Amino acid sequence: MTKKKLGPMNLYPLLPRTNCGECLPKTCMGFAVQLCERGLTLAQCPPLVDSKFQVNLEKLEALLAPPVQEVAIGRGGREIRVGGQLVIHRHELRYFNKTAIFTTVDDTMAADGIANRVRETSSFSYPYIGHTLKLDGIAIRSISGDADSFQKTVETVKGLTEMPLVLWSPDPGVMAAGLEVAEDKRPLIYAADESNWEQMAELASRSGCPLAVHADGNVGTIRSLISAISDRGVKNLLIDPGCGFGEALPRSLDNMTMIRTSAISGDDSLLGHPLIGSPVTLWDQGNSLPDESIRWMESCLASMMTIRYADLMIIRDPSMWSTLPLVVLIDNLYNDPRKPVSVEPGLRIFGTPDPVTSPVLITSNFALTYYTVLSDIEKLNCYLLVADTEGLSVDSAVAGRKFNAQKVADIISSSGISEKVSHRTLIIPGLAARLKGDIEDAIKWDVMVGPRDSAGIPGYLREKWEGVDHKPGWSYR
Ligand code: SF4
Repeated sequence: MTKKKLGPMNLYPLLPRTNCGECLPKTCMGFAVQLCERGLTLAQCPPLVDSKFQVNLEKLEALLAPPVQEVAIGRGGREIRVGGQLVIHRHELRYFNKTAIFTTVDDTMAADGIANRVRETSSFSYPYIGHTLKLDGIAIRSISGDADSFQKTVETVKGLTEMPLVLWSPDPGVMAAGLEVAEDKRPLIYAADESNWEQMAELASRSGCPLAVHADGNVGTIRSLISAISDRGVKNLLIDPGCGFGEALPRSLDNMTMIRTSAISGDDSLLGHPLIGSPVTLWDQGNSLPDESIRWMESCLASMMTIRYADLMIIRDPSMWSTLPLVVLIDNLYNDPRKPVSVEPGLRIFGTPDPVTSPVLITSNFALTYYTVLSDIEKLNCYLLVADTEGLSVDSAVAGRKFNAQKVADIISSSGISEKVSHRTLIIPGLAARLKGDIEDAIKWDVMVGPRDSAGIPGYLREKWEGVDHKPGWSYR
């Protein structure tokens, strides 16, 4: 269930309606359609920014405001945004602002332990379908309860990284000490609860920092706290409804689902704030399990909470093998289901190809096709052209005319391959065999039809490429 869907006709009357052509769709109706799909922003209509449209601009901003508030944490180039969600189900549109992952240090850790944790977090990286998955920030916890220790730890972390911070203490005095040295970084204040909310609201109001609201398992209390804190002018809020394993697990997940559903459906705007999952608290619960068991429980809980709408996740450390399922899950959940996963079109060079004898192959820019082809040819010396098929696989692109003679001519021309090789032979995928004649006419090269499956490329080259006297240009490196 979602709030009544916004359509272009809700927005169009508020646009300048001059069809001035200054935006990408060139027409106001086209712009309204793209606004609905969140493909463009209001700032991309220059006339709208003109003061004479100020009233309309404000109305449009109100119409387009997401039911789950978008909140910024950090400043400058390392600022992250969380929340901003419009839908319950990803297939209804898409999710925005990937779940941010913060690891934790505390003020009882030795300096080298803190430095290691910060370094491991900031250097965490995992290559995945053409981009790099990373972690987002550091949560600094007060365990000692001592304001000086906390302040020193905050200063230490601040000196080690530009990543966004969460300051974590239930004690307003300790929090004030942390903010004194980190306020300029706009950290998240974690957290206001029933016992401290007035002082925490005051700190958030004074510093301009976002504030987390926490009540373990009690949504009624969270509502009351948000209402009271909002009345004091603090608007940038996040919600942590608590989490745990055992009996607490279904309650945690139900609460997150209920909060997000109420916000998106428009039933309860008080709950329209980003959600925090804090599975790091599993390490606090004093059980006798070995560390490795807690680590896997934490990874499992974090993944479940990600599926149940968590916008920010606080875990203990960036251990690669327990963190990996989480970052991959988040990446898959937050990509745009309307757009196939694609790679940049262009020329890829493998090994040290010979301009006279090495083959030139071509494929589509659908990420899964590209990486499959890559794994089959990366040990060869050859050239690979990646055509812009708008993210479609070869067979779909041929059927949908996204892989055609003109697209091949375009990539031949834009890639500069004609200057890199002296021969004029292109090997096309077997799935595009029926385009052979059209492509030859368009590019004036000889076209050979390769195998339907890229796993067959080395065998194909051995048999066919050498047979046309190009040996040994395709050889293994
Ligand atoms: S820039 Fe604005 S006024 Fe001009 S066509 Fe686009 S939406 Fe219409």
